[in-house]
Amino acid sequence: MDIESIKRDIIFYGLEIKRVGLVVGTWGNISARYEDKVLITPSGIPYEKLSPEDIVICDLNCNVLEGRHIPSTELSTHVEIYKHRDDVKSIIHTHSIYASAIAVTRKNIPAIIEDMAMIIGGEVPCAKYAFPGTMDLAENVLEVLENKNAVLLANHGAISMGRSIKEAFNVCQILEKSAQIYIFATQIGMPKPLAIEEVEKMREIYLNKYSKNDEAK
Ligand SMILES: [Zn+2]
Repeated sequence: MDIESIKRDIIFYGLEIKRVGLVVGTWGNISARYEDKVLITPSGIPYEKLSPEDIVICDLNCNVLEGRHIPSTELSTHVEIYKHRDDVKSIIHTHSIYASAIAVTRKNIPAIIEDMAMIIGGEVPCAKYAFPGTMDLAENVLEVLENKNAVLLANHGAISMGRSIKEAFNVCQILEKSAQIYIFATQIGMPKPLAIEEVEKMREIYLNKYSKNDEAK
């Protein structure tokens, strides 16, 4: 995929996260990795007003290489994840309601449901609180990330990632759905997490079978 197509995809999925209610206003941000560069949404511009030249291109030291705007304030968290996870090609940060509700309790979401195990890779950890936009926040995310595709940010929101922008968007949606199920289930009783072997088996099936066609996108 070339750099112009990536910019168009970032805008497309920016509109999608807004359309499906994962963010409001200009909140949240989307990035994608292209070789040793990071393309990211600018700070404070509504998704519906973005054009490809508004997407900011940075290096892995958070320097702006190209673009007329300031990059998203969460650039450092995006960059640190890319530096630590070769498999991650796109990151989406949202303030979705159910994931944020759990993030306010500073609890993890246990691996409770099939699609969560497959697409997110199991339990979603909650990173310790740090002020938004800081390097401390990036470090707290890395501390709990391991090989998961989603992390809750205490009293803030969530961060999701994948091997493509499309996959990162799927992760955002599955995360929000899992958070909603977890909250609903706790109203009835204590949710029972899936056994770790079951989670690993489901993840394996997703990586080796279901997602083969998505991988290179
Ligand atoms: Zn945020």
